[in-house]
Amino acid sequence: MQRLARQWQRHGTRVGFVPTMGYLHEGHLCLARVARKRIGNSGKVVVSIYVNPTQFAPTEDLSRYPRDLKRDLSLCRSTGVDVVFVPADAGMYPGKAAGDFSTHVMEENLAGRMEGAARPTHFRGVTTVVAKLFNILLPDLAVFGAKDWQQAAIIKRMVSDLNFPVKIIVAPTVREADGVAMSSRNKYLVGNLRPQAVVLSAAIKQVRAMVKAATKPISSTRLRSLVTKMVSAAPDARLDYVEFFDPKTLLPQTRVTHGSHVALAVFIGKTRLIDNGRL
Ligand code: AMP
Repeated sequence: MQRLARQWQRHGTRVGFVPTMGYLHEGHLCLARVARKRIGNSGKVVVSIYVNPTQFAPTEDLSRYPRDLKRDLSLCRSTGVDVVFVPADAGMYPGKAAGDFSTHVMEENLAGRMEGAARPTHFRGVTTVVAKLFNILLPDLAVFGAKDWQQAAIIKRMVSDLNFPVKIIVAPTVREADGVAMSSRNKYLVGNLRPQAVVLSAAIKQVRAMVKAATKPISSTRLRSLVTKMVSAAPDARLDYVEFFDPKTLLPQTRVTHGSHVALAVFIGKTRLIDNGRL
C-alpha cells in the first residue's frame, strides 16, 4: 500500500483518506463522499477497514466487534471509493506478540478527559494507528466524523504537533430517522434496547432547547442533573458521563451557553454508546 501511495505522490495524484473499523453505515459513506468532493475526480479516495486492537481495553468488545467485509467492499464500490485498505494485524503490528512493538504516539492533554478518562488506553491506540496509517497512505486530507468529536480534536492536535502534511476535515454526524447517531455498535441493540438508544440524542436536544431559551448561561450542574434524570428514565440505560465543554479546547465549562458543546456516554444494556452536539 505504501509503495502504491508513493507512486501516486510521485505522479501528483492527491489522496483523500477515511479511516474506519468497518461494518460500514451511511455515516462512514458520507465521509467518503466528503473526501471525494474535496479531493476531486482526479484524486484517489482510500477507505481503511481495520479493527485496531490497540484501542480496545482487554475488557472491551474487540473479539465480537461486528465485521462484514464483503458487504463493506460492495458499499465502498457503489460509493466510488478507489481503494479499500484492509491490513491484517500481522502487517500492522508485526512481532507485537513477541514484544517487538514499542513506539506509540500519545496526545497528552485533550486525551485525558471524557472518553480518555473512561477508556485510559483508548486514544493512545487511536493516535498510534492513525499515525501509522498516515505514514502508509501519505494522504493529502483525511476525513473524520463529528460523532467522535474528541477523537477528531486529538487527531487535529497530533497533526499540528507532529507536522503531518495532512488536512483534517470533520464531517457532521449522520443519524437514523429517530435521532440515534449511526454506529456499528448499534447492531448490539436488540429487542427493546434499540428504542432506548434515543435517550442520547433526546438529551442533547433537550439541553439545546434549554440553552436556546435561556437569557443567560445555565450551570452545568443543573444540565447534568437533567440529563441524568432523562437517562435513568430508560430502564436499561446507565449514564457513564456527560460533559459540557468548549468545542475547540475541550475544556469543561461550568456556565453553559450558546456555542458550548455537550458530549455523553451511556450504556444501553451492555453496549456503550457516545454522542455529542453543539448547543
Ligand atoms: P469507526 O468505524 O466507528 O471507528 O468510525 C470511523 C469514522 O467514521 C470516524 O471518523 C467516526 O467519527 C466516523 N463516524 C462514525 N459514525 C458516524 C456517524 N454516525 N456520522 C458521521 N461520522 C461517523
